[in-house]
Formats: sequence, C-alpha cells, structure tokens
Amino acid sequence: VTERLVVVGGDAAGMSAASQARRLVPDLEIIAFERGDYVSYSACGEPYVMGGEVAEVEDLVARTPADFAARDIGVRLRSEVIEIDLDRRAILVDSAGDRSKVGFDYLMYSTGASPLRPPSVAGAEKAIGLRSLNDAEDLRRVVDRGVSKAVVVGGGYIGLEVAEAFAHRGRNVTLVTSGEHVLTRTLDPDMGALADDAVRRLGIDLVTGVYIDAISEHVAHGGGRDFSGDVVVIGLGTSPETELAHRAGIEIGVTGAVAVNSFQETDRPGVWSGGDCAETTHRVSGRQVNIALGTVANKAGRVAGTNIGNTVLGAPERAAFPGVLGTAITKVGEIEIARTGLLTTESVIYGYEPAVGTVTGTNTAGYWPTASPVHVRLIADHISRRVLGGQIVGGPGSGKKIDVIATAIWTQMSIDELAWVDFAYAPPFSSVWDLIHIAARRAASSA
Ligand SMILES: Cc1cc2nc3c(=O)[nH]c(=O)nc-3n(C[C@H](O)[C@H](O)[C@H](O)COP(=O)(O)OP(=O)(O)OC[C@H]3O[C@@H](n4cnc5c(N)ncnc54)[C@H](O)[C@@H]3O)c2cc1C
Repeated sequence: VTERLVVVGGDAAGMSAASQARRLVPDLEIIAFERGDYVSYSACGEPYVMGGEVAEVEDLVARTPADFAARDIGVRLRSEVIEIDLDRRAILVDSAGDRSKVGFDYLMYSTGASPLRPPSVAGAEKAIGLRSLNDAEDLRRVVDRGVSKAVVVGGGYIGLEVAEAFAHRGRNVTLVTSGEHVLTRTLDPDMGALADDAVRRLGIDLVTGVYIDAISEHVAHGGGRDFSGDVVVIGLGTSPETELAHRAGIEIGVTGAVAVNSFQETDRPGVWSGGDCAETTHRVSGRQVNIALGTVANKAGRVAGTNIGNTVLGAPERAAFPGVLGTAITKVGEIEIARTGLLTTESVIYGYEPAVGTVTGTNTAGYWPTASPVHVRLIADHISRRVLGGQIVGGPGSGKKIDVIATAIWTQMSIDELAWVDFAYAPPFSSVWDLIHIAARRAASSA
C-alpha cells in the first residue's frame, strides 16, 4: 500500500520538504494543502512588487502546481486545513466551504507566520499587513490607485521595505516606530541611527519612540498623536501560526512556535515541522529562537524532507539542522543593512563579556569615484576571543560581506584570526585592509 505524506502549508518549508521527500522516495504519495492562491512563492520579493521594481506577483512564484505535478507532488490550492487528528491520522480540509477528510501516514506542519497583531494595539486585527502574494497584490493596487499618503507602523525590515516601496512610487510616507531607532532587533543603537538617516534621506517622515496603540483604516494613534493617511499598513513583526498544531496536541515551545528537535521532528511521531511556524536553535546563544526568514525555512524544510524520506524507507540516517545565527540583510535606498550573530546587548544578556570593534571606511578604495561610507561592527567574546556578532551599514556591495562574519562565527573563529584572513582586494572593491580586518583588529585590541 502506498503511504501518504500530507503537507500543511505550501511555501518555502512545506514545498522544500515535499521536494526532498520526493527525491528520496519515488513512490510516496505527497499532497500539499495551501489555503492561498499560490505555492512556492517568494514573500521576500513582495515589497519590490509594490515598489514596481518587480513587474508582477507571478514573477515571485518559483514553482507552480503544474511544476509540482510533473514531479508527482499533488497541490491543493485554496484548501485550508482546519483540523489535524493525530489519533485517526487524518486532516479536515475546507475548500471554498466543501469539507473533506484526508488520511495521512506522515505530516509536515509548515503553516508559517502571520503579521503580528498585538492585543495592546486596538484595531490591529483588521489592519493591513504584508504576508501573502494576495496581500502584495492588494497593496500594489492601493499604490496604483494613487494614494497620496501612507502610514506604516513598525520599524522592522518589513515595515521599512513597505515604506520604501511607497516612497519609491512617489507617495508621502510616515513611518512610526516605538523603538528609539528603526531595526532595533537588527542593530545596536548607534548603528540604528545610521539606518534612521538612510530612511529620512528617502524623504520618509520617520517618527521614533512612539508606541501606536490604536489603528483604524486611515489613522494610527499613539503618544497622544494621530498619524493619518489614505492607508495604514502594519509591520510589527510576525507571529508563528501554531493554533492548528496546538489544538492537535503538538508541543509548542518556549518561544511560542512549534517545538522541534534538530531533525525537525515534533514531539508527536510521524509529524515534522519547520520554517516560520517552528523553533530552531541559535548557534551562539544556544537558546531556542523563532526566526522568520526564508533562509531558515528552506533549510529546515529540506532537513525535514530528508528525514521523512529516510523514515519512509526505513533507513537509519537522519539529517540534522545545524542551527542559525540570525543572519539577515535589507536595504534602505542605496544603503545596505546587515547583521549576524548577537547584538552587543544580547551578548551581555547571554553572559558574554563583549569586546567591540567598529570602523567607518568606504566600500571601495577611498579614491574610487563611487566610494561611499560603510560602517562595520564586530563583537567578540573577551574571554574566548571568538567572534559573536557583526553589523554592517553602508553603500552598495557592503551588506553581503556579513556572510564573511557569519562564516567566522559559524566556524568559531577567533577575532585574532579574522584580522588576518586573506581577503581579495582591488580598488573598485575595497581598501587593501578590508574593513572587517580593521574592525577585527579593533575588537582584538579592546579584548
Ligand atoms: C514582505 C516580506 C519580505 C520578506 N523578506 C525576506 C527576506 O528578504 N529574506 C528572508 O530570508 N526572508 C524574508 N521574508 C520571510 C520569508 O518570506 C519567510 O521566512 C518564509 O516565507 C517562511 O516560509 P514558510 O514556508 O515557513 O512559511 P510561509 O511562507 O508563511 O508559508 C506558509 C504557507 O502555509 C499556508 N497555510 C497556513 N496555514 C494553513 C492551513 N491551515 N491550511 C493550508 N495552508 C495554510 C499559508 O497560506 C502560507 O502560504 C519576508 C517575508 C515577508 C512577508
């Protein structure tokens, strides 16, 4: 008898798991249920559809249901899983009001995360947030309709990208954030102030330190002030979609996301999870974290798919997810902003004694015509001298250098070694001493 894998949620984590399971087990029946109109799409590209850099939402679709059908992976669109019965090994699906039960042998729970709508913000439950391609289409229509003023609530990277999209289309934008600067979870305060400058240079009216406690269609209210526009959009972070899992009796972890081990197994046999709805382990702090990034979701899905495949085959091998550093990147206009590992404050919270090295230089040799400022920060542990974190705010080409710092943290490199790694140099690309070298040297001498 053919066994069946059911995937709940058909994006990065779910379809990576489905694809990987298919690679390993040609005759496993695989069906993915997706409540939206698309599977396997890049939510990451949505702000650029709004802003007009990417022409159509369809351009963000990596694989269509037909592509999956060609690999014998079934996709059911507009089909919401509304119940999981682990004892009877069946799900209940709602497709436009038609309800049906579908049995399974193995389950991948990959429902993702939705825009956070805190109860302390009245009206947040109805506010516009950006998550699905349908949301991106709706917001694109709002921009096309010629709104003259938008209010964006929240200074995380999605809020910033949405604000930039409005500005890019020539609309007036007010961005209101409760933090003392934007990207408080990404940058130390002084580096965050540089990001604030970049936001203001785009003509965005940035208001920091104001907690919005009420939102309606046209007004965000907070700190005794009303911020009004033709549209109000929230970007307050994300909340893992765990309700269905919780009701099914699947363990939810300390972060509020689905608890999984490094094999992406939940506490219930035959049920895997991964991506925005699930926890993962931070390699530096050793803590469980819920990091809603496509990088994590794709890898976690692949690990789950490998383990599902091997379980079906009865093979003993297991793939293990190695954890995350929280490496992330975004841009505000021409300014690239990236971080990895721990912030300075986080390193103190997790019991390290941080040695910090910061340098300001340029993204090319200083005399090169396109030279623009770059700020690099490295954080190391005073005792072990290991690199703990890094941040970059700077001109074109600077942001992806965060990967070098991520690699140093990943391999537990010391700050002293990082100061001497053989990096490439020519005037259009960097200075002869790379800014990472100099930041490392400064952190080393303060350690
Ligand atoms: C605007 C925006 C920009 C982003 N930019 C970046 C970026 O630059 N870099 C980066 O690394 N990450 C970025 N991300 C995050 C990235 O998109 C997510 O981390 C990734 O999509 C998570 O994949 P996932 O499969 O875990 O969850 P999701 O992509 O949320 O997919 C889950 C799917 O499950 C479906 N679903 C949920 N419940 C059910 C149910 N009960 N029945 C059926 N279907 C269900 C949902 O409709 C959804 O399609 C961005 C996200 C957004 C919204």
